[in-house]
Amino acid sequence: MTRIDKVLVIGGGIGGLSAAIVFASQGKKVELLEKRRDFNVPGVGLGQPACALRVYRRLGVLEEILDTGFCYDHMSTFDPNRVLIAEHRFQMGGNGLPAFCALPRADLHRILCRRAETLGVEFHMGAEVVSFGGEHGTEISFSDGTFGEYDLVAAFDGIRSTARRYIVGDLFGPRPCGIGAWRVQVDRPRYVTGMEFLQGIRGKAGAIPIGRDKMYLFNIRPENPSEHFPADAMHLLLKERLEQFGSYVMDIAKSLTPKSPIVYGALEPFIVPYPWHRGRVVMGGDAAHVVPPHLTAGAAMAVEDAYVLAQFVASDSGSIHDRLRAYAETRFARNAFVYTFACEWMNIEQSVRSEADLAAARIEYSKNLDGRISTADRILDSFTC
Ligand SMILES: Cc1cc2nc3c(=O)[nH]c(=O)nc-3n(C[C@H](O)[C@H](O)[C@H](O)COP(=O)(O)OP(=O)(O)OC[C@H]3O[C@@H](n4cnc5c(N)ncnc54)[C@H](O)[C@@H]3O)c2cc1C
Repeated sequence: MTRIDKVLVIGGGIGGLSAAIVFASQGKKVELLEKRRDFNVPGVGLGQPACALRVYRRLGVLEEILDTGFCYDHMSTFDPNRVLIAEHRFQMGGNGLPAFCALPRADLHRILCRRAETLGVEFHMGAEVVSFGGEHGTEISFSDGTFGEYDLVAAFDGIRSTARRYIVGDLFGPRPCGIGAWRVQVDRPRYVTGMEFLQGIRGKAGAIPIGRDKMYLFNIRPENPSEHFPADAMHLLLKERLEQFGSYVMDIAKSLTPKSPIVYGALEPFIVPYPWHRGRVVMGGDAAHVVPPHLTAGAAMAVEDAYVLAQFVASDSGSIHDRLRAYAETRFARNAFVYTFACEWMNIEQSVRSEADLAAARIEYSKNLDGRISTADRILDSFTC
């Protein structure tokens, strides 16, 4: 049996930090490579479904996450003026786990980093991989002139992964779909106590509470993928885009200023079917699959990938190639569901292009949305660890 004692994890995002924690908990020597010089991460907030919280319990960070974030058990869909169309109670969690807990991304990073440090993970900051060498791809030259040899390289280096290029070449990768996501952290009105969607024409707005006083507002809508939005005009551009919405969305739109912390990103979904490894270099998280944010499960899938990868690597069934292939097959099936469901949900909501479409959506959502999301809940919640 091939022993895996020394692991290089590439990428200090949610997936990479989780992988480092699980491998270190198994007693392996873990080095985590992150190209940023510090963990001053961009982004706004992350909703974490019960399946991810289940893994966080295994990683020993659940309590801190629940203490920091905002837990919610429902999702409401409204028309552009926040008149209720459908209410959904999530069918996830239980046994000490809420259906969802959402928190600022920077807080989740801080919690995971601290746990990794406690377990002795060595942080290698401000450098990237220059080459994957040797028979297994595990003899690594770094951009800061250093070199290392490992038993396994676990790459969680995100959507523009260098490891993915090493594993599958350039055929698979981010595919701009013509939809963009705007987000801004704002004060939470007391009455926003769950995830909210306001279906509009050509796009939706909504909110996710991420703390006692905070939430983030989002707007998902068609955008030219090659468009660059100047930082000093972001507040005006978002204000213009939110014009069709009433209620708190309108109030927030009016209050935007050049100082508002607005984040924009084009959505670029893709999924690599096979392979997810070459030699002993294996990938997970956004390096292998990127989904639209509709199920708020992209980071959750990265965390599950990390956990499952470490279990397969530690098992004694077959060669390391067999174990990495089994990991990819297991995770592809799960991620393909999330990818398909999220893409289809995005397509449905973005196909509302007129008042007549909105009227049709109102009827369809009030009949079927609850049942549809319940199905997704049960599938998502089926992950055990
Ligand atoms: C609008 C939007 C909203 C979302 N909301 C949610 C949500 O509510 N819940 C949820 O679960 N998911 C959500 N997601 C998805 C989630 O953000 C991602 O799926 C998740 O961050 C992926 O984690 P990761 O660790 O795989 O990659 P990343 O978070 O991208 O981390 C990759 C890390 O690798 C580093 N890196 C990159 N290249 C290299 C290199 N060559 N060498 C060294 N380091 C490198 C990067 O600096 C980064 O730190 C959302 C996504 C979007 C776009």
